[in-house]
Formats: sequence, structure tokens, C-alpha cells
Amino acid sequence: MSPINPDSRISLGRRAFLQQGALVLGGLTAAPLGQLAAAADQKQRGAVRVGLVTDLHYADKPPGGSRHYRETLKKLDEAVTQFKKDEPDFVVFHGDLIDSGKSLEQEKQHLQTIVTAIDAIPYPRHFVLGNHCVDQLTKAEFLQGVGQKESYFSFDRGGYHFVVLDSCFKSDGTPYGRHNFKWTDANMPASELKWLKDDLQQTKLPTIVFVHQPLDLKDTDAHAVKNSSEVRKVLESAGNVAAVFQGHSHRNKYAEIGGIHYCTMVAMVEGSGPTNNGYSTLDVYADGSLVLNGSRKQQDYHWS
Ligand SMILES: [Zn+2]
Repeated sequence: MSPINPDSRISLGRRAFLQQGALVLGGLTAAPLGQLAAAADQKQRGAVRVGLVTDLHYADKPPGGSRHYRETLKKLDEAVTQFKKDEPDFVVFHGDLIDSGKSLEQEKQHLQTIVTAIDAIPYPRHFVLGNHCVDQLTKAEFLQGVGQKESYFSFDRGGYHFVVLDSCFKSDGTPYGRHNFKWTDANMPASELKWLKDDLQQTKLPTIVFVHQPLDLKDTDAHAVKNSSEVRKVLESAGNVAAVFQGHSHRNKYAEIGGIHYCTMVAMVEGSGPTNNGYSTLDVYADGSLVLNGSRKQQDYHWS
């Protein structure tokens, strides 16, 4: 994949590392290859390694436009195989796990099918709510389905702080569910913003944020969280947020705003066949550098 991103600091990823590895191996033919590869792996692994997948839109229905709903199961299977090699500390599903069904019962079935497939991942999983997750299902039903208590929360791991956010609220603060919203009306309510402010204040650790709807767009953009500028103020004033990973628009995109990296990841559901897949492994290092190793259509990034 040729880099789409103009940012000059963005470069290496899984493929580049492999190329470098091949060069190194070529010059050191006396050492056992397996040993060298293991050493290279050791060097690459960050203080924390995270698996990332977004916009799976699994549904048992024929393709709609560029979205191949049923193929998600096969694509996820490939990601699971890669994750078993990469051994991430945890995997984050960035929202839109399912797509709409003809009935509430069918939509619950979509969730059950994809959760069963996800259960093949032998590492902890965290789920970010996407608009399609709670289109017909209530948040309580979705959370119960994936076995998670909260829609927004935080935790520490390997010297980093991780925050999962929920922007599936209408502008009046009503949570999404039972077809009660327009997808263009994504908001982070005052209560969650206050929680976020307090949460970021009580940690000195470098912080990574996971959210479904993008926070790096203009508030008026159809895909944006409508009060993005307000949320960004909270993130920027905390002074410890390194990066925000997001989905929703289905396309690779990068922006740096106020010293924070905003990475929008490619959707798993877009396109047919194995080459039209996308998922990644993120390594965060003790020195603050971050490497996103993208697979298939997912762009690679290296921020130091
Ligand atoms: Zn989506």
C-alpha cells in the first residue's frame, strides 16, 4: 500500500519492518534465521500491544453497495489468525460490529454470530459503541451481548492509560437505541465530558483514546461528533493524550491537531475478497513512540 498520508513522519509498518528484517538477515547468514527473527520480534514489541478492528457491520444479508456484510466473518477469521501470531495484550473493536436486521430478533442473532466469532480471540476484548451497534438494540442489550458493563471507561496497562469513549447520544443527551436517532447526530453529553476531564486529570500516564465517530473533523461534518471541538479542548488541556483511534467513515485518514494524533481506520466490511480487509496491531513504546502495523487496506503509521 502506498502511503496516502502526507505527514513525513509516517512510515514504517509491518511490511516495512519485514523488508528491513530481510535486509538484516541477508547480511547475517551465519546466525540461525529463527533466532534472528525472534530477536527482531522482541525489538518491535511495545510496552503494550493492541489489536484494532473497526466497522465490521456483520449481517446475514446480501451486499449493499460496497458493503459485503456476510464476508466479515471470513475477514475476521484472518484478523484472528494474525492476532494469534502478534499476541496483543488486548483487542479493541471500534464500533459498528453489526448491521441492521429485519427484526430485533434478527439483529440480536447478528450480534450473537459475530460475538461467537470474536470469542476465538484468546485475549481480552473491549468494545466501542458505534451507531449501528445501537441502531435497533438498546445500549444495555448490546453491552449484555458483548459481555461488557459500561459504554465508556478507562484502564491502565504497561505504563499507558487507555480510554474508551461513547458518542452514541443525540444532541439532547438521549442515548441511541430503537431507531430513535439520525446517524449524523452524534454527541458526547456533558456528563461524559465531565467524567473524561476528571479521568484524564487523575492520571499522569500517556493516554490513548478509542472512539467510533471522528473527533478531528469540523463540528458540522456529517461524520463528526457534533461537539468535537469541545471534546478536543478537554483532550488537549489534559496535556497527556498522545493519540485518538476512530472509525465510522470507513476510510484511512490522519490528522494532527493540538499535538494529538487522530487516526481514522479503514472499515473491515468494505469490498469483497481477502484483499479488501483491514485491521491492525498497535505497539506503544516506553519512549512514547507509537507504531500502527496495518494489514490489507489499513494504512501503517509510525509516530515518534
Ligand atoms: Zn460503519
